Amino acid sequence: MTNQQTIRVRFAPSPTGYLHVGGLRTALYNFLFARKHGGTFVLRIEDTDRSRHVEGAIENLTATLRWAGLDFDEGPGKEGAFGPYVQSQRLELYRQYANELVDTGSAYPCFCSPEELDTMRQAQMERNERVRYDRRCRSLTPEEVDAKMAEGTSYVIRLKVPMFGDVAVNDIIRGNVTFQLNILDDQVLLKSDGFPTYHLANVVDDHHMQITHIIRGEEWLPSVPKHVLIYQALGWEIPQYAHLPLLLNPDRSKLSKRQGDVAVEDYRARGYLPEALVNYLALLGWSESKDREFYSMPELIEAFSLERVGKSGAVFDLEKLNWMNGQYFRNLPIEQRMELCRPFLEPAGYDIRDENRYRKIIEALTPRIQVPVEAREKAEFFFSKHVPEDETADVFLYSESGQKVVHLLLEKLKDIEDVTAERFSEILADAKSTLGVKGKYLFMPVRLALTGETHGPELPLIAEILGKEECLKRLQEELRA
Ligand code: GLU
Repeated sequence: MTNQQTIRVRFAPSPTGYLHVGGLRTALYNFLFARKHGGTFVLRIEDTDRSRHVEGAIENLTATLRWAGLDFDEGPGKEGAFGPYVQSQRLELYRQYANELVDTGSAYPCFCSPEELDTMRQAQMERNERVRYDRRCRSLTPEEVDAKMAEGTSYVIRLKVPMFGDVAVNDIIRGNVTFQLNILDDQVLLKSDGFPTYHLANVVDDHHMQITHIIRGEEWLPSVPKHVLIYQALGWEIPQYAHLPLLLNPDRSKLSKRQGDVAVEDYRARGYLPEALVNYLALLGWSESKDREFYSMPELIEAFSLERVGKSGAVFDLEKLNWMNGQYFRNLPIEQRMELCRPFLEPAGYDIRDENRYRKIIEALTPRIQVPVEAREKAEFFFSKHVPEDETADVFLYSESGQKVVHLLLEKLKDIEDVTAERFSEILADAKSTLGVKGKYLFMPVRLALTGETHGPELPLIAEILGKEECLKRLQEELRA
């Protein structure tokens, strides 16, 4: 491996308006690798596709990375020696290299209009040929080129891909990978509006920013031969590649929006803990040993290595993530759990102004919450009650035995000064021996009458939080003549 001091990696997203969880995993692996080796983690914004421009996307991206704990060393707003870090601010550089590639015979101007290209494509499809640029401008003479330029014909610059041979790289994760050149298209490097394509800008910047390791998703592997040709044509050293395995839906298709949420911002908005999301994503493609699942960021930095990243796709399993988030949530001090749930309860109109009561609510609900957003639904019965009109209610609550339980509880509760969990447990025990009902036939009528639900936290806890008056009121409501 390269000298430890010189390691420089980058996360190079295109600002689409949100950060994909796969992007966060890529950023994380870059970050971990940099931190582990005392290197530099660069954030570079690849925004040369102007049709995809989204207002505020860079700010959103940096805020999301910061939330996840992935602080970059150089990037927008953190100018280092290699800025600017936003490609649309570096256009001159790409033009300069596109021209250099033309001058040295590695690229050529192509004057074909969109209509011509379209006709070419149609014809190729009709002949059942592979659709590709047929390289007709590759053989223009210098005079022909000059003439077209003099006429002001608009043009792009294309890479002159060799007709034969191959390109091989040694990818840290995938090993030796060889690409045949004869199937490659003469890639456009510079568009007619003077903007570079991803390929040119990416290579120029990785070189200029002295990137030593390119760690990115497997979907970029097919770009490697084009990039290698550009590096070679410009006489530049090729960085080390490490292509990360794809993230998959449970049905093993590529992780997509259609099958669930892929935007990190959505997870953040639902109260997921960044530590849990990062921990979970770290394990999607990398593992230190089979039996370890929990890692703090410093532990990840310590344990991470690219050599232990696998080749096969990793399934993004929401249930597993939720489970892990629940583990992190439960380990937090109560004050933090209260803060995390608050934004979901206040807008729902729940009155949580009494801090003491709110604390008890969150304590009671904690074992049933994996993600803070769930608190809204789980806490609802503390603020309103609705007993469903169904068979369960008929059998347990409105039956003769259910009504007896409700009656007895009302009697007992009236007599006591204050409802504590302990006192309520005693009342339940009393009811059991006095009425001779037990199990579901004792608990279900009480639970239904107090909460309208069939599951939830321990009844004595609920009763204490509701308080005497509310318990009496709720029981009273369920009395049938
Ligand atoms: N701009 C590319 C993206 O959106 C970067 C790919 C790379 O890392 O080279 O992911």
